[in-house]
Amino acid sequence: MNIKSLQNHNSEWHPNIWPPFTQIKTSKPQIEVTHGKDSLIFTKNPKRTLIDGISSWWVTLHGHSNEYIAEAISKQAKELEQIIFADFLHPQAKLLSERLSRVTNLERLFFSDNGSSAVEVALKIAYQWWQNNGELRNQIIAFEGAYHGDTFGAMALGERNIFNESFEKLMFPVKRVSWPSTWIGDNEVEIKEENALKELIELLKEPTAAVIMEPILQGAGGMNMVRPEFIRRAYEIIKSNNSLLIADEVLTGFGRCGSLFAFQKANIEPDLIAISKGLTGGFLPMGITLSKERIFESFVSENPRNTFWHGHSFTANPLGCAAANASLDLLEQNPFKYSQFELKHYALIEKLQSLSCVKKIRICGTIFAFELEVNNNSGYLNLIGKRIKSEAMKKGLFIRPLGNIIYLLPPLCITDDQLEKSYDILFEIIKNFTN
Ligand code: PMP
Repeated sequence: MNIKSLQNHNSEWHPNIWPPFTQIKTSKPQIEVTHGKDSLIFTKNPKRTLIDGISSWWVTLHGHSNEYIAEAISKQAKELEQIIFADFLHPQAKLLSERLSRVTNLERLFFSDNGSSAVEVALKIAYQWWQNNGELRNQIIAFEGAYHGDTFGAMALGERNIFNESFEKLMFPVKRVSWPSTWIGDNEVEIKEENALKELIELLKEPTAAVIMEPILQGAGGMNMVRPEFIRRAYEIIKSNNSLLIADEVLTGFGRCGSLFAFQKANIEPDLIAISKGLTGGFLPMGITLSKERIFESFVSENPRNTFWHGHSFTANPLGCAAANASLDLLEQNPFKYSQFELKHYALIEKLQSLSCVKKIRICGTIFAFELEVNNNSGYLNLIGKRIKSEAMKKGLFIRPLGNIIYLLPPLCITDDQLEKSYDILFEIIKNFTN
């Protein structure tokens, strides 16, 4: 333990931990959690009970420590905890593959262990697929404001900003199309969509290996939502120009946008889909890249160069698969939990809507977001978010604004009272801040 070096930073931080996405010099130290139950997180120092307003980085789906999923993991752990997946198969992986294939209509599943890897795999498959078919295509298209993860390939696909500028020279080029975000009362949405589609048509004049998108909702980029009809039209253009389409459903999958997967809401058929986060109900790290059979087929060959030479130690970990199967059981037992969630948000927005600094309110499935107009400095580094977060914690709500974008993305099990309390807390804080 090197206390000396730590004293130069912030002595309240643990001396051996390097936290994710955090500048410890300007951030409050981590708070120790003793346990979690359903939508609640229990902390010590300070001792608090917090509503988890963002599902612990968008992963916790049915609530913390869900008994049914915990039981499934525990049972599996006593049967088989891990196995090398290149040589062996196990019942949980078989079952999960069959179920996910059935509900998505994409036949082949490639397992990894986080969202970035699932995206990375999709990109590599798409890029190699063209070569397996005797063509080299270098153009990749993504959307402005996108976030696809932090490994190099996934990072290159995302918006270039302060988070990745140190690596600029190491990233491959990606072409970008604007993302026509919309909100309640937006009357320019059609113009924005037309412009974006024109950009897409223009770029697709060059042969393109793949277009990647977060269907309906860009998460980390600022909870920016587009209309399903835009996604559908973009899809038609992509298909008619013979490019592959990758849907990054790492966040949007498993009911978050009101349908089991967001691509279904837009009525499109991606060639590849990346999923993670809610996949195991948020219990264990797992990523999956789903692929159409026709893509997979080009990798089946006597020629070793056509093989997809990629794999991870924990591929299809049995505990993760057991958790994912249990989570799917819960989703299947009660699809109304996600398909009807939107109504709860609509019933609660009125008070916030009355505040003049609350702008661009949007709702999609389980997600509610808005922009706080405080000064001209919008974006992730806007400090208002940190202040709102800190006040909310004191009142019993955990949120993690993206700069001046405030949002709720709660677990499906949040009670009506807890959701109403979350809205009331936001209202009280914002009213006081801006009065
Ligand atoms: N894609 C999207 C849309 C995401 O929201 C995220 C994570 N926020 C990722 C990819 C990366 O996932 P992970 O953090 O599990 O690597």
